Amino acid sequence: MGDLNIPLLQTVKKIHFNLPVTQLVEESLERRQGVLTSTGALACDTGEFMGRSPKDKYIVKDSKTQNTIWWGEVNQPFNSDDFQILYDRIIEHLKYKEIFVRDVFACASPKYRISIRVVTESPWQNLFANNLFIRPNKEELAHFDYEWLVMSVPSFRANPEIDKTRQHNFTIIDFTRKIILIGGSGYTGEIKKGVFTVLNYILPLEKGVLSMHCSANIGKRGDTSIFFGLSGTGKTTLSADSSRMLIGDDEHGWDDVSVFNIEGGCYAKCVDLTKEKEPQIFNSIRSGALLENVNFISDTLDVDYSNTEKTENTRAAYPIEYIDNAVNPSVGGIPKNIFFLTCDAFGILPPISLLTKEQAMYHFISGYTAKVAGTETGITEPQSTFSACFGKPFLPLHPMKYAQMLGEKLNATKARVWLINTGWTGGPYGIGERINLKYTRSMIASALNGDLDSVEYATHSVFGLKMPIQCPGVPSGILDPKNTWSDKLAYDKQAISLADKFISNFIDYSDLAAGDVVMGQPPFKENN
Ligand code: ATP
Ligand code: MN
Repeated sequence: MGDLNIPLLQTVKKIHFNLPVTQLVEESLERRQGVLTSTGALACDTGEFMGRSPKDKYIVKDSKTQNTIWWGEVNQPFNSDDFQILYDRIIEHLKYKEIFVRDVFACASPKYRISIRVVTESPWQNLFANNLFIRPNKEELAHFDYEWLVMSVPSFRANPEIDKTRQHNFTIIDFTRKIILIGGSGYTGEIKKGVFTVLNYILPLEKGVLSMHCSANIGKRGDTSIFFGLSGTGKTTLSADSSRMLIGDDEHGWDDVSVFNIEGGCYAKCVDLTKEKEPQIFNSIRSGALLENVNFISDTLDVDYSNTEKTENTRAAYPIEYIDNAVNPSVGGIPKNIFFLTCDAFGILPPISLLTKEQAMYHFISGYTAKVAGTETGITEPQSTFSACFGKPFLPLHPMKYAQMLGEKLNATKARVWLINTGWTGGPYGIGERINLKYTRSMIASALNGDLDSVEYATHSVFGLKMPIQCPGVPSGILDPKNTWSDKLAYDKQAISLADKFISNFIDYSDLAAGDVVMGQPPFKENN
């Protein structure tokens, strides 16, 4: 029924085609797949999966991809014939079911824009696609011709024996057929990061554009800043800044003249969200926004953001224009300042430091952050993770490809690179505490307005990082992390142990990294 120009998809019962947001919300409520919160947002549960499943992500290996993809645990190969069989089985599964179709764009710069048709089983996943990607206007919709197809079918559970998957859920990208196939998981982040993975291939390889896992904003003087960081480090939080205009919160491209958003919306973490600390995000959670996996204050429709019973990863998905000072189109000039965000749960890295070019390259390739172990098991030991380019799970190409492009851009633009620790101070997780968001905001503001140009810097004894000794709005006592620890010997020991982790992680990349990058590594080894 209907002609969507989607291979074999003629047998569905009903196609809901580009429904208005209000109707998607109504359809969700009618199906009892969601409720309206007291602020008018639609709250839904994503089901079994409340986060991405990186072990179930595959890329079809064929003549196009075999020599270009960085094969390994991030990009697992999938056979092209098996893909066709699985695709056909999904079409069969959708027979006599209702589907929701959404036509969207990715890439705010017209030069790189791609058109995507997103097919979902549920109205609220369709709302997600509407909110997160770039919404075509009426005219553009009338002439819409899609290049990429995303099929999100959570109710289809793969049979690993027939379907050659690891388990019942999967995300498979086929660069030749231009299809992203998602099954078994209702987590919307699979749709979002599936498209990001596609752009992380197309932009650098086919367009010569650096694609980045970062947020971006612009100051009143037109100066662009970008914020790289792994999940939970503060990209969304710190880019939503009332004194600056938002370009985008998670995925961007950088060409010779601009930084442009890949998406058209934000996907904000909601854990412990308060109006006071994060007013822009809080106020965006209103009619038309989608909330995922949140709980309510008993007997009310007020969301309890502190409740993490379902997951720590509660999320809100809303169109970028819900942030009142977002720029439209989501494009800015080339960056003046680059922030690498790390949430160091060891409490070792300075809350702000200025990096040399070599240090910048080294930290970009390292992509360090720490994960705090699940609170439910009561574990106090933080786990360090290194994720190349601050986005390893989304990189279809070898990380050095992105690193080299960044290196060239740093040389060409003289952008300054800052390392920001949004994690622990006063000791590691369990002893210290997370750095006050207010202080992190002040440090970033000072870096941007030039206040840190005229202050003195001290050098970190283990990491060789330049730490300002003063910063307006921040108690100077916290700028050198060692000062915040009561046990200085414990600090030194932990710092050396963290530096060791950096050094062993870098071994994987050292043969590919140009000589000067190694100069960015923690210098303590040379002194020993
Ligand atoms: P993702 O890639 O998963 O979207 P993200 O980098 O966008 O992750 P945020 O959504 O910004 O991460 O999450 C940062 C979280 O940490 C927020 O919940 C924020 O309130 C909290 N936080 C606490 N202290 C700080 C701080 N000093 N700086 C930044 N964020 C902080
Ligand atoms: Mn984010």
